[in-house]
Amino acid sequence: MTKFSDLKLDPKVLKAIEEAGYEKPTPIQAGAIPPALEGRDVLGIAQTGTGKTASFTLPMITLLAKGRARARMPRSLVLCPTRELAAQVAENFDTYTKHLKLTKALLIGGVSFKEQDALIDRGVDVLIATPGRLLDHFERGKLLLTGVQIMVVDEADRMLDMGFIPDIERIFSLTPFTRQTLFFSATMAPEIERITNTFLSAPERIEVARQATTSDTITQGVVMFKASRKDREASEKRTLLRALIDSEGENCKNAIIFCNRKVDVDITAKSLKKYGYDAAAIHGDLDQKVRMKTLDEFRDGTLRFLVASDVAARGLDIPNVSHVFNFDVPSHSEDYVHRIGRTGRAGRKGTAMMICTPRDEKNFAAIEDLVKLEIPRLENPLKDHKPEPEAKKDAEKPARSSRSSRSKKSADKPVEAKEPVKETAKEPAAPAREQRELRESQPRNDRRDRKPRGGDVVGMGDHLPSFIALSFDERRAG
Ligand code: ADP
Ligand code: MG
Repeated sequence: MTKFSDLKLDPKVLKAIEEAGYEKPTPIQAGAIPPALEGRDVLGIAQTGTGKTASFTLPMITLLAKGRARARMPRSLVLCPTRELAAQVAENFDTYTKHLKLTKALLIGGVSFKEQDALIDRGVDVLIATPGRLLDHFERGKLLLTGVQIMVVDEADRMLDMGFIPDIERIFSLTPFTRQTLFFSATMAPEIERITNTFLSAPERIEVARQATTSDTITQGVVMFKASRKDREASEKRTLLRALIDSEGENCKNAIIFCNRKVDVDITAKSLKKYGYDAAAIHGDLDQKVRMKTLDEFRDGTLRFLVASDVAARGLDIPNVSHVFNFDVPSHSEDYVHRIGRTGRAGRKGTAMMICTPRDEKNFAAIEDLVKLEIPRLENPLKDHKPEPEAKKDAEKPARSSRSSRSKKSADKPVEAKEPVKETAKEPAAPAREQRELRESQPRNDRRDRKPRGGDVVGMGDHLPSFIALSFDERRAG
């Protein structure tokens, strides 16, 4: 079995890893670090939680330890799909470079350009960025990518979901073709395959067995639920959620509750709070600082229930939780595996419960298909009770926990009696940057119809026919 000390990493990096308490490299680390240290391109395919961050950060900083940064020309670049993931990579970077003198800058939305500019002006060894924000800096002429020796694309499949592939292609084309590329993804969609064929040169491919199955340390269950009336479905689901939480009693130490839509994340968190549950929401429309604070509280145990959307939770390093509740059945079956993978880690026991309405049955069948398991049907704990009315009317009102006008808009919609609404359906034409920032924080599928970069089409606004956007994108990609 490989040891870290076999891996030819800088001794100062080894020291930092030891202090971080890592005993041995994970399989993706053992596979990716040696070729990366030889300067080769690497294509790493492994699920969330397998230690991908260190598998590119450790060789990267070992290689960078040998040179010096020049003003405005970062020596390496790490691209991440969301602000949280970028911030998390930056944290990891700090841990591993503890004994080295390397500098970094984090370019993400929600942080002022001025601060970021000052750092870049001085010169950084590592630039960690979301694609949109990076291009914004580049377009403002504040940044040169011609000094990039190592480029990392992290969570490429999520980039694809979020529509960042054209941005990634553009960024690739702005860096020297002699650069080394380290590319990581949990899955290999055809579009990802195409990108790697185009931009990676004879990569070493490391694939860690795909986790289509769920850990058997997780006890799974589903409540098949039909509302008494269609317009009561949402509120009855919330009552059911509370009953499920209560039925677990003390066993439920902490939990992540997943909703499919941001608006439901807000409403569910607010409703739980109303009923005395210690809950907070995390999704892409919330202010960066609020999100970070919420996550920190959840990590250190001061917050018991985290209500989240997939994008907000994807890839986040959250320690073992006792329970995962799927308030909604995810529409992509792999998301089920990711969601419930938040519990039952490292051999510990976990519980995952889901609420399935008749409308969800097709998606539910796809999940059972994927995990090759008949998920046990649970008794509805409320079966013999009359549905209690939700306490106060304002529990039903959407939360206004975000300062952003975007989320206010989506939260202002009456939700109870409606079919799912696409949250972006009525986005006003926003300036390019705002649109990108919005993208950084939007769930998959919400934005397939996004407008082209910089493309505020006068006179058509939101009614821009999708074929126009498509041809723009394709032209740019070509
Ligand atoms: P991924 O990017 O694949 O989802 P991360 O890089 O975020 O995974 O790592 C997940 C967790 O595992 C982090 O808490 C990280 O500190 C920890 N970790 C990474 N490598 C090791 C290791 N070799 N030994 C122990 N813990 C590790
Ligand atoms: Mg990761």
